[in-house]
Amino acid sequence: MNYAEILEKIYNELEPTLGEGSVANYIPELGKVTPDQLGISVCTNEGDEYTIGNAERLFSIQSISKVFSFALAYKLEKENLWKRLGREPSGNRFDSLVLLENENGIPRNPFINAGALVVTDILLQHFDNPLDEVLSFVRSISGNPNIVINRNVQESEISCADRNYALAHFMKSYNNINSNVDHLIKTYSGLCAIEMTTVDLARSFRLFSTSGCNPWTHERVLTTSQNKRINAVMMTCGLYNAVGDFAYRVGIPAKSGVGGGIVGVIPNEMSIAVWSPALDETGNSLLGIKAMEMFTTLSEKSIY
Ligand code: GLU
Repeated sequence: MNYAEILEKIYNELEPTLGEGSVANYIPELGKVTPDQLGISVCTNEGDEYTIGNAERLFSIQSISKVFSFALAYKLEKENLWKRLGREPSGNRFDSLVLLENENGIPRNPFINAGALVVTDILLQHFDNPLDEVLSFVRSISGNPNIVINRNVQESEISCADRNYALAHFMKSYNNINSNVDHLIKTYSGLCAIEMTTVDLARSFRLFSTSGCNPWTHERVLTTSQNKRINAVMMTCGLYNAVGDFAYRVGIPAKSGVGGGIVGVIPNEMSIAVWSPALDETGNSLLGIKAMEMFTTLSEKSIY
């Protein structure tokens, strides 16, 4: 399979449409990103890497960080985690409040904002500084010790975090948040403000394509069963309320973020990350989804 040729074909086909969609601007710093960019990076389990376009440009990973936090929290809490969280798609916007009252403050899944706030709360119970713990986890699985948090993006998100504050206070009223809410939002916004490139993301997601082993040290990080389950939750909940359409068009477990990144896994074969900051109406990268769809179509690789 010539992946370099496939990436070239995808880039050439999408290049004339670069910039279609709109960058997220509800977080002011994200609104400053130039929309007409596209980067793609693929890492096979054998260690071969292919890139094209703006694959090495840093961007805000936003909700993709929810996979890293969830993996750490799941490792710590094991099945106990599910006492405070569900694992069903929400069918609602990522920052929606509507289901929480009917469901007694238990978020539908770890990848909507409410769920990620509970996961962050769990990390705050286990660690003095969860931001350092998640950063060192991400650095270790990506093989890049230079990954950092963009403090401007973190501050920018805190300045307009009314919905996340509302979610956190509401869940606290059901005793599903234990931390101080200001501290929780600061930590959660810091996690979302981690900056990575598609190369970093594809490398780090080899953890999930190699059944839970650190791709660099080969040390086991997750049990094969935990790894299967994390991939399953990405498959069913990773693309906001467009997860069904993504399964239909792309057919792999993946997670998107409002920074325009999407990273996915073809279990036991490879990981693929795309970034294009202009989003569609569901908050997913418009060209990112098209690029992923073309990749699984042209390579004839998916989980189905
Ligand atoms: N930091 C963003 C928020 O809480 C994350 C959203 C996302 O990427 O889905 O609104």
